[in-house]
Amino acid sequence: MLTRRSFTQLLAAAPLAAAPRRPNIVMIYADDLGYGDLGCYGHPTIRTPNLDRMAAEGMKFTEWYSAAPVCTPSRAALLTGRYPVRSGLTRVLFPSSNGGMPDSEVIIPQILKGAGYRTAMVGKWHLGHLPRYLPVKHGFDSYFGLPYSNDMTPTRGPGGGGGPKNPPLPLIQDDKVIETEPDQSRLTERYTEHALKTIRGSKDKPFFLYFAHTFPHVPLYAGARFRGKSPRGLYGDAVEEVDWSVGQILATLKQTGQDRNTLVVFSSDNGPWLPRGEYGGSAGLHREGKGSTWEGGMKEPCLARFPGFIPAGKVSTAHGNMMDWLPTFAKLAGAPLHTGVALDGQDMSPVLAGRSEGSERVFFYWNADDLRAVRKGPWKLHTVTNTTEFPPAKVTRLDQPALYNVLNDPSEKYDVAAAHPDIVAELLALMKEHQAAIQQAPKQR
Ligand code: MG
Repeated sequence: MLTRRSFTQLLAAAPLAAAPRRPNIVMIYADDLGYGDLGCYGHPTIRTPNLDRMAAEGMKFTEWYSAAPVCTPSRAALLTGRYPVRSGLTRVLFPSSNGGMPDSEVIIPQILKGAGYRTAMVGKWHLGHLPRYLPVKHGFDSYFGLPYSNDMTPTRGPGGGGGPKNPPLPLIQDDKVIETEPDQSRLTERYTEHALKTIRGSKDKPFFLYFAHTFPHVPLYAGARFRGKSPRGLYGDAVEEVDWSVGQILATLKQTGQDRNTLVVFSSDNGPWLPRGEYGGSAGLHREGKGSTWEGGMKEPCLARFPGFIPAGKVSTAHGNMMDWLPTFAKLAGAPLHTGVALDGQDMSPVLAGRSEGSERVFFYWNADDLRAVRKGPWKLHTVTNTTEFPPAKVTRLDQPALYNVLNDPSEKYDVAAAHPDIVAELLALMKEHQAAIQQAPKQR
């Protein structure tokens, strides 16, 4: 007789048979959206019904990290599955930068293309704007978007940004500049049109869509239907339009019969830009924001929906990070991983399938080329203290490292290093070992 216990064991041992073969994958990445900025993560006034529905119909992660607290390295880590120091993309690129994604890196679209996927990118790239670095040179079949941040323009806008040193902001289609200084209040709508075109046009083979929103990075703009509507002001308007865009994607997947054959992930590149005041977001309970290795700089909202594969309404406390998506997508696509390079992510498909609660992970907090903190289980050790430092602020190296139990104390208020010298020593040793083992690539600036 099959007892409840043996049935559970059978389930746990079963292969991930529920996953359709080669599902479509949509990765949606917001810019500077904080952990606390969505309704389903507790924001009281920003209305995000579509993202809340993603959480209700899929999985909501509460311990998910970006591998960097600013734009460029966060995106490099997502697409390479590696800490940014390995690709050399450790700092924000500017219109004056000459660097970008090295040809030696194998990134998600290249892996999925090898498994027969159509690959499309919409939105903010920020991994090199010169022709050789654009998405179409790194595995994407098509591209529509801004090559870097929307504040890198001569035009000043709401919330800051802009300056006469910048060239006109280019809008790029594939590898051509099709406009300069586009109307930013129409960007989310135009990005969404391109994304929907990809979904509608991919009936013959599976697709990977990487949709990296420009907002809610400053300067803030929202379309006419959203401007002035959110109780949270212009920041809320911009986030609510991103939420609308997610709703359009979910609706189009349903209309085209691809709803149950598509994994949709939503997350953000780094924490909120707090010095921007009302034009910046909220990290919820977490300390500090963008540019900082406190939790608010790197812990992100993260939602994953894949009906029939991911259990509905599950809140996962599994410890994960953006570098996990590359091996996870490869696993779901049946694509072999490239060999000969160190990958820092791990396959999270058993967690997504509800068959694993995750494992104890060691995660390192880098800021640019500086290793500043480590987390293992509930414990996080800092060797420096730093505030939101973009533009750069003072960083103080601590004489004595500070230890926090970030599960009990997500706001990192209580340094308990004195009570746990053994844990401090263990975590310091892990940092030392990681620092010594990591292969730092030449900087891409
Ligand atoms: Mg950002």
